[in-house]
Amino acid sequence: MRRDAQRTMQRAHRFDVIVVGAGGAGLMAARYAAQHPGLRVAVISKLYPTRSHTGAAQGGVGAALGNVSEDHPEWHAFDTIKGGDYLTDQDVAETFAVDVIEAVYDLEHMGLPFNRTPEGKIAQRKFGGHTREFGKSAVERACYAADRTGHMILQTLYQQSIKDDVVFFDEFHVLDMIMVDGECRGVVAYELASGTLHTFHAKATIIASGGNGRIFRVTSNAFALTGDLMSIAYRRGIPIEDPEFYQFHPTGLYKLGVLLTEGARGEGGILRNGEGERFMERYAPSIKDLAPRDMVSRAMYLEIRDGRGAGPDKDYLHLDLTHIDAHIIEERLPDITEFSRIYLGVDPVKELVPIQPTAHYAMGGIPTTIDTNVISDGDSTVVPGLYAAGEVACASLHGANRLGTNSLGDLIVFGRRAGTNAARYAAEASFGDLPADNQDCAREMLDALRAGPRTERVAHIRRDLQDSMQDNASVFRTEKLLRKQVGILDELRERARLVGVEDPGQQYNTELMEAMELGFLLDNAEQLVHAALNRKESRGAHSREDFQERDDVQWLKHTLVHKDGDTVRIDYKPVTLGKYEPKPRVY
Ligand SMILES: Cc1cc2nc3c(=O)[nH]c(=O)nc-3n(C[C@H](O)[C@H](O)[C@H](O)COP(=O)(O)OP(=O)(O)OC[C@H]3O[C@@H](n4cnc5c(N)ncnc54)[C@H](O)[C@@H]3O)c2cc1C
Repeated sequence: MRRDAQRTMQRAHRFDVIVVGAGGAGLMAARYAAQHPGLRVAVISKLYPTRSHTGAAQGGVGAALGNVSEDHPEWHAFDTIKGGDYLTDQDVAETFAVDVIEAVYDLEHMGLPFNRTPEGKIAQRKFGGHTREFGKSAVERACYAADRTGHMILQTLYQQSIKDDVVFFDEFHVLDMIMVDGECRGVVAYELASGTLHTFHAKATIIASGGNGRIFRVTSNAFALTGDLMSIAYRRGIPIEDPEFYQFHPTGLYKLGVLLTEGARGEGGILRNGEGERFMERYAPSIKDLAPRDMVSRAMYLEIRDGRGAGPDKDYLHLDLTHIDAHIIEERLPDITEFSRIYLGVDPVKELVPIQPTAHYAMGGIPTTIDTNVISDGDSTVVPGLYAAGEVACASLHGANRLGTNSLGDLIVFGRRAGTNAARYAAEASFGDLPADNQDCAREMLDALRAGPRTERVAHIRRDLQDSMQDNASVFRTEKLLRKQVGILDELRERARLVGVEDPGQQYNTELMEAMELGFLLDNAEQLVHAALNRKESRGAHSREDFQERDDVQWLKHTLVHKDGDTVRIDYKPVTLGKYEPKPRVY
């Protein structure tokens, strides 16, 4: 009786601005929205804020401060565009490279404990694809706090948000967006502690819910990164931009996928094949191990495929740090040293570390303008009241391949823009009416999962999804494998209908939420696979063995994947070009 009463209990909340997600992008947005006098701002997060994945970011945030050697925002913008294989919108990259400098100083002023140069400036180190003078040699651009940069960003921003009176709804899982006449009026969320649904009515909603790496088997991403809002937005008529561009990071711990930052190579680390050869000299003669991630991951796959892997099965490679001074490793890379010792029993100071590429970052996402307004089509039609920032969003900064350190930069630059713009909009707008049935869709999904036949298990379907995505849609792709994966996804959807949640409890029913997340993962995989099948060229992280060349005549355009009933529809958005002509990428 009591359970039923709890179950039907409804809660309603009203805020001028709500932010979904408490990672770097969400907290930066909340902080800047809260600067606007008189506005009430709330953050809704399925995790306790400081458990967000931003806290796991290691290596650094890139900004052309020029503290260690000469640097300029023009160089940073060019590297971002070239690294993105010219799918990057050039106006976005140019604005970003200027804004990120101020955003890093902003973090410094909030108290972020960056490492320092001997003169007391913010220390900087090298990272993949970041160069001086338009590609001449590697440049020190990554600002870092040991290999715990994201942890420091998250803690700093959380403290500031509390100070700014942002209201937090922790462990509230957003299940639906409230869309009325093409406008966003808030979200519906499930409170994990009580099992009740809550309606959040807002003038402006900012989506900052992070990535979707859990669609793959070997990934650096935390368990919570299930692409929830990329799925919810898609179901509510918003397209997903460029999902075929998914980044594999070269240095995941063998079999586990736990990340070892690129900062390790920035400090001088070298990749070696099973024969001990520094193989990147053959693939990227000028910047070698610091080539962009897509190139290094492909080179690693090829080395393994050609029989030059390490170990009894020749299925991994090595990261070699043994020539670097032990005190530099312990001081600047303490966390990854510990990961390697704990998870593999390998001491990087003395031994080679077994590594393999690991699924890491979604370049695509919910499409936005440079000002973070969500758009609904290739003409950039703005969805009123809806903003997105961070990994869930696609402002077209990263193009077909993101450079290391540009995600943390993206969070602080576009998080800040989202907060400021949403607040400006909310200050002028009034609350639109809410439909009385706004919770129905979420409730129906929960009821269906509870009432399912229980002949299938979430964990089994999720494992089969992750295994098949890894085998058929990861670093190298072909028409045959992608078509096979489309069929597998159809079967997995059928199986997902047979899931039933066994735990009848209301409080902390994580089984129920995992079943919900499985549906989100399946949508994210569908977006990626259909877009990958459609794009008949190789560009950045999207590498088709049957179409090995980049084709700027046909394919210099962004993909938009729409959900049309039960089918997938694809259209396009133009790339904003600028002063950099697309050229072959040579490093
Ligand atoms: C191991 C690792 C190391 C990295 N290192 C670097 C680096 O050195 N430099 C760099 O630039 N980038 C790095 N990256 C990438 C970068 O850290 C991420 O892209 C970035 O932190 C994402 O931030 P975000 O704010 O978009 O989302 P996240 O930090 O992932 O936060 C997402 C938030 O959304 C909430 N959320 C999600 N779904 C829901 C829902 N349905 N309802 C309510 N809330 C929800 C979560 O609770 C969470 O608070 C790294 C990534 C990983 C995985």
